[in-house]
Amino acid sequence: MENILVIGGAGYIGSHTARQLAAAGYRPVILDNLSKGHRQAAAGFDFELGDFTDKACLERVLQKYNFAAVMHFAACTEVDRSVKDPAVFYQNNTAGVLALLNALTAHTIKRFVFSSSAAIFGEPKTDLINENHPKSPINPYGHSKLMVEQMLSDFDTAYGLKYAALRYFNASGSDESGEIGESHSPETHLIARLIQTAAGKQKGFTIFGTDYPTSDGTCIRDFVHVNDLARAHVLALGKLLNEPASLCFNLGSGTGHSVAEVVETVKKVTGRNFDVQTAPRRAGDPARLVADNTKARKVLGWQPTYDLTRIIQTAWQWETHRKY
Ligand code: UDP
Repeated sequence: MENILVIGGAGYIGSHTARQLAAAGYRPVILDNLSKGHRQAAAGFDFELGDFTDKACLERVLQKYNFAAVMHFAACTEVDRSVKDPAVFYQNNTAGVLALLNALTAHTIKRFVFSSSAAIFGEPKTDLINENHPKSPINPYGHSKLMVEQMLSDFDTAYGLKYAALRYFNASGSDESGEIGESHSPETHLIARLIQTAAGKQKGFTIFGTDYPTSDGTCIRDFVHVNDLARAHVLALGKLLNEPASLCFNLGSGTGHSVAEVVETVKKVTGRNFDVQTAPRRAGDPARLVADNTKARKVLGWQPTYDLTRIIQTAWQWETHRKY
């Protein structure tokens, strides 16, 4: 059984991926500082409490297990916070990963799966964004991720590191087991906030920006279920371990939904009505981000399986029975 280090495996996407790794016959070992993750989300797995940017801690974990590959989820992800406080993003998401890659090189660990983002593309030049789309981030979060993609490419050339850079579009929904799900504090993501509003845990909902150049003036995003994303990680890892070549994939459903449309769908699925206010644009938000997922379908055999309604149903199910 191959050991896979899952950094940030007690977090949202990491915990869903750890479960699928185990189901696929790998042994996930979770390293998480629990700053945003939840101990319950890592229940049943080998768990190491610590920060991947703590050199001594990382060294201890790398020495304790023999890892076939590392998956890295532990990142700051809120776009508007990255505009207000870029230092934190460059420190954790970029400098932290450089130190991590150096440690992996020293331990001759040469397989790495990286959580990248649609934010590396900036304002799209085409309706659907494929892997070759120009990379021109419009916020520090996107820059922090793109810089790592550049480092990965250079580490491949120089040291033979083989990696998969997975550019997530809008991760959403929760596992149907009801054991794990989305739980951020504060919650900033669209669907999770709407669900909390529908549940009466937040008062009213605010749409940020109604003057975008889209059909209804609100932003368009591509919502992809967290379990679909998790499966793409397992597929990418299998490919990296079997035929070592670096890869990048845009992971989205390929369908765009406007913020206003998502608001209406949440009301419909939950059967709850709530107040919706509008406010000016949030800093750093591109008008539209929708994936062309042809490459992931062809090369990985990946297929997103949840549509927006189903995603919202799983998010609602979690919210009404949440464990953490
Ligand atoms: N959004 C919103 N109200 C909220 C949270 C998000 O209008 O309370 C909008 C946000 O401005 C963006 C979209 O929903 O246009 C998706 O935002 P989210 O933070 O979920 O993901 P991002 O696309 O920034 O990764």
